[in-house]
Amino acid sequence: MDCLFCAIIAGEIPSRQVYADDAAVAFLDISPWHAGHTLVVPRRHVADALSQPEALSEIAPAINATARLLTERLEAAGMNILINSGAVSGQEVFHLHAHLIPRYADHPGMAALMERDSDIDLDAVHQRIIAQA
Ligand code: 5GP
Ligand code: ZN
Repeated sequence: MDCLFCAIIAGEIPSRQVYADDAAVAFLDISPWHAGHTLVVPRRHVADALSQPEALSEIAPAINATARLLTERLEAAGMNILINSGAVSGQEVFHLHAHLIPRYADHPGMAALMERDSDIDLDAVHQRIIAQA
C-alpha cells in the first residue's frame, strides 16, 4: 500500500514528531496554517473517520495529550481540532488524521483559520514543543 502517513509512521519519510503512544503518532504539518499545526494519526492504517469511526476513540488520548502539550509549550490561546473525512470535505491524505491548530490572539476567529503562514520556522517551533522541561 502506498500511504504517505504510513511511511512517516514507519520512519521512511522524515517528520517533526511531537508525541507518540501505542496507538497514535503526532507530527507537525509540513504546511502549517498557524504555528504548531500538528497532525495526530493512528498507527494502523485507517482511511478516514467515517469508514472506521472506532479509530477516533483509539487516537483520542493522543489528541488530548498533544493538545495540552501544544497549548503549554506554544502558549496558545485556543485550538481548532478538525478532521476532514472524504475528498469532498477537503481530505487529501487518506490515512485518518486530526488537525490540531493552535490559535493565537493576534489572528482570531474561523475566517483566519486557514491563513497558511509561510514564515513559520518549522524547526524552531518543533524545538519549542519537544524541549525538555
Ligand atoms: P487533509 O487535507 O487530508 O485533511 O490534510 C492533509 C495535511 O497533510 C495537509 O495539511 C498537508 O499540509 C499535510 N501534509 C501533506 N504532505 C505532508 C508531509 O509530507 N509531511 C507532513 N508533515 N505533512 C504533510
Ligand atoms: Zn496509512
